[in-house]
Amino acid sequence: MKQIAIYGKGGIGKSTIAANLSAALALKGARVLQIGCDPKHDSTRLLSNGTAITTALDYLRHTRPDERHLRDVVHTGFKGVHCVEAGGPEPGVGCAGRGILSTFELLAQLGLQSVAYDIALYDVLGDVVCGGFAVPLRRDYANAVYIVTSGEFMSIYAANNILRGVQNYDSSETRLGGLILNRRGVEDEDERVIRFAEAAHLPIAATFPRSDQFTRAERLGKTVVEAFPTTPLAGAFGALAHVLLNSGPYVPAQPLADDDLERVVLGSSTRTVNPYRHRALSQPADATPQPALTPVPQLTARYLSKSVRQRDPLQGCAFAGAVHTTLHIQDAITIAHGPRSCSHIAHQTFTSSARRALTKYGVSLQHQFEPPLASSDMSESVVIFGGTDELESAIRAAATSHPPVIFVVTTCPAGIIGDDIQVVIERLPDVTAHTRIIPILTDGNINGDYSQGLITACLKGAAALLDPDVTPEDDTVNIVAEKNLANNTEANFRVIHDLLAALGLRVNCRFIRATSVDELRHFKRGRLNLLAYDDAYGRTFRDYLAEQHGAVFASAAFPVGFHETVQWLHEIAAFFAKTEQVNAIVAQHRTGYEALVENLRPALAGKRIFILTYGHRLDWILQTAFDLEMEVLKVAVLNYAYDDRFFSRFEGRFAVELNYAPEQRNGDIQALQPDLVLSNFMLGVPEGVRGDIIPICPDVGFHSGLLLAERWYRLLKAPVSEGWRSDASLL
Ligand code: SF4
Repeated sequence: MKQIAIYGKGGIGKSTIAANLSAALALKGARVLQIGCDPKHDSTRLLSNGTAITTALDYLRHTRPDERHLRDVVHTGFKGVHCVEAGGPEPGVGCAGRGILSTFELLAQLGLQSVAYDIALYDVLGDVVCGGFAVPLRRDYANAVYIVTSGEFMSIYAANNILRGVQNYDSSETRLGGLILNRRGVEDEDERVIRFAEAAHLPIAATFPRSDQFTRAERLGKTVVEAFPTTPLAGAFGALAHVLLNSGPYVPAQPLADDDLERVVLGSSTRTVNPYRHRALSQPADATPQPALTPVPQLTARYLSKSVRQRDPLQGCAFAGAVHTTLHIQDAITIAHGPRSCSHIAHQTFTSSARRALTKYGVSLQHQFEPPLASSDMSESVVIFGGTDELESAIRAAATSHPPVIFVVTTCPAGIIGDDIQVVIERLPDVTAHTRIIPILTDGNINGDYSQGLITACLKGAAALLDPDVTPEDDTVNIVAEKNLANNTEANFRVIHDLLAALGLRVNCRFIRATSVDELRHFKRGRLNLLAYDDAYGRTFRDYLAEQHGAVFASAAFPVGFHETVQWLHEIAAFFAKTEQVNAIVAQHRTGYEALVENLRPALAGKRIFILTYGHRLDWILQTAFDLEMEVLKVAVLNYAYDDRFFSRFEGRFAVELNYAPEQRNGDIQALQPDLVLSNFMLGVPEGVRGDIIPICPDVGFHSGLLLAERWYRLLKAPVSEGWRSDASLL
């Protein structure tokens, strides 16, 4: 079967030409299929007595997969020509390109490839604007391409872009049949097209004059070939049909550079500067003064995750990060605007972290098991036609319980098709009368990684909810930037909560975890803010809340290790003028700490440690190691998304290597001969070496280091080689 794609700028008359060609081919006895690949879906109208046929995408939208049949989308027109219209969304919504892709997939699933046509014509909209409209160019479809153009510059410009699209698909093969000139009566028309054809080394396969026969035939709902079969115009279509049936000759696509195109077609070039380089524009003396370029970027462009800032590979998707934040606002409902699969993944990760926490630490948050998450449930047809109606339905369903806030978080598909969430909100005055709808446009991973999603959700949530007029209350703190998926977040919170309670302090709001709309609204009641993690992520939150909301922060994050906990307590107690309680709290824990050190020291003193780390602060481990009189041979630091630098108050007491390559590890182990390798980036160590994990999110408080040291003690007592590996009867 010959498969011919007919491309051309919208409105240039390619559908009229395609329909006339199909009619002429059918008159020559060919079995013809014409597929209109244009949302306007009028490609085959002149073959069907001027009537519109059911489009493939409407059919896809309204039928179940097991009910579909090819005969429902293939309609028979003039002289038995088989007609298919892809259809597509209304202008401005959905994704027409995806629609073309879906149409071809549907036709393939329904077995169109097995039907014995002599020739298939694909009538494809204008420019190759996206991958969807390029589907007919794929190898398994068009084996020849013709481009319809007039002498108008934009039409030739579109033709040149189509050549680029063809060139992207064809590195070696040639399948361009040439240009079809459809005259529009512009000045210098034939010469322009001829100049372009010569410069691009293209034949002009046919030229059609402006003729009222097209209009008269159209009024009858027919092609010229059907309505006026004996006219020279009908004869010209017959001649081109003959060329199509006889294959070629074909040439390769050789598009012109934009400058050359202008010069060739218009005789001049206006594009003389690099469009990507800024240059100062000279102002004419009488020009109206322009506003100064002092823009205020959106908050989400100022507070960025480390991966986004450094353009590192993205870790996770911003949609999931945002959802895992808004789900912690327990009286709000989060609607994931996207396919159910995105919500499913986000739901699973959220609930499984609660299960892990419960199993490992015996403490978890109840609401994490049944998070208030809904989905607009985007299907393939929604991606094509736009999902605003589905989102409206999802919001209405969620609003029946009158939550104070509904968050709408966007996934990749919603972002790609560009659904306008604000328009949906404006359609819902009855809902917004009692429920605030806050869009969080993460657009899946288009706008960043998981951390960026956390940041965006917090910024949007805070910007929308925090009441700036609330005044701080005595003895209250806020907790900021806990890690919502870590197993020990609740266990750590309890430790912190108890230490604060011992100082007579109360937690006002956790930003954003296990909280409510009202708590967030009254965030500023917290007089002092305590950062959970002093890493790149935590510092972004701290900077945002300090700069935008005047939040006051303690200098240290949640304390990990004895020394750090003492320091942290002193700072907070000093802020609230409660220093007299600190000594008693420290004394109470010091006794237990020292007793444990005495117990472990005989077994661990003199043992040699090699540490490989992502750059987290390790002083809690180093302190414990030195208290136990262990020897730290070396700290090797890899770059990592959570933090920018390596810090230690013990620097100088061991070797440090920054920007460490993981491949160096085994060589170092061999050279250093450590008793223990501690690492937070590799679980396995070579046979014969004992290794332990440094948690990325350590347990907080006085005993963090000793909890690890107890593990080292047990590890060092275990045999260094696993005997079962050499047990022949086992292997
Ligand atoms: S990356 Fe995009 S498609 Fe994948 S889960 Fe995230 S939002 Fe959904």
